[in-house]
Amino acid sequence: MKRECLSVIVPCYNEEEVLPAFYKEISRVRALMAEQVDMELLFIDDGSKDRTLAILKEMAEQDVDVHYVSFSRNFGKEAGIYAGLQNCVGDYAVVMDADLQHPPKYLPEMYESLKSGEYDCAAMRRVDRKGEGRIRSFFSECFYKLNRKITGIDIVQGATDYRMMTRQVVDAVLSMSEYNRFTKGIFAWVGFRTRWIGYHNVQRTAGMTKYTFGSLGRYALNGITAFSTVPLALSSFFGFFFCILAFVMMLVVLVKTLVWGDPVAGFPTLITVILFIGGLQLLMIGILGQYFSRAYMEIKHRPIYIAREQKLADKEAR
Ligand code: UDP
Ligand code: MG
Repeated sequence: MKRECLSVIVPCYNEEEVLPAFYKEISRVRALMAEQVDMELLFIDDGSKDRTLAILKEMAEQDVDVHYVSFSRNFGKEAGIYAGLQNCVGDYAVVMDADLQHPPKYLPEMYESLKSGEYDCAAMRRVDRKGEGRIRSFFSECFYKLNRKITGIDIVQGATDYRMMTRQVVDAVLSMSEYNRFTKGIFAWVGFRTRWIGYHNVQRTAGMTKYTFGSLGRYALNGITAFSTVPLALSSFFGFFFCILAFVMMLVVLVKTLVWGDPVAGFPTLITVILFIGGLQLLMIGILGQYFSRAYMEIKHRPIYIAREQKLADKEAR
């Protein structure tokens, strides 16, 4: 009988410092699970500028179950996840970070949940954010709250990208071939029965986080625009509101002029109103621009990633 296979997908961007530790830990868990399932380790080198690819090649030479795809440049983690799901051969797939912030020791528990047939996905959620910067935590939490309100898509509190899924879910996620990929939203959007497993935040084993404040901001904006058009409706709302307001003002001015004559006054008010409405108009055009630019990128149908080299499992053989 054909043995079942679990594909472990690991996006890596400049992870030379932590890859050996990751490999050691995942090998330990692979040995633990060896009786139940085969494991494929599929690393995505996201255009790293350090020795990441060299290390992956060394690993692949010594270990037949290590595979990799290496991008022609940095395409971002979301593209890495897509490439991994597209090229893995497993009956199950799990996505995890290379820095051991997603501890491999949870794999057996996740696998059990799927194996039982009760769940299609097993996902990890952080129950705390210990060790993470205060400001970063604050803005993250604000973003997820806002996101939930605006998009109506329920991203569970503390949800991470550490997630195991069945082949059926892999195919569902791949069927969403959009260019601006907000993976957390995509997983919530495709649905399926998900088991959430809580764990405590772990610090990065080595190396540095790849996300700056700016890139997290872009990530957040993408998350909202990818799953909601509510901000677009804002301009209609404000437009309507100001029309009513203008009409009322018109009546007030008319009555005032007729009853009390027409002394020219109220210059500061005028300036304030002009500046306010001018600012609001630009803001609304800005929002429009955010959607337009994304629609523009989608319509080009550019590939989500470009691989420069790769070593993959033989799909036919499975
Ligand atoms: N990563 C990637 N491409 C990028 C940025 C990050 O493949 O452009 C990978 C990175 O190597 C790591 C994972 O995504 O395996 C999570 O990144 P990181 O640990 O820097 O993020 P954090 O945990 O700080 O949110
Ligand atoms: Mg990390």
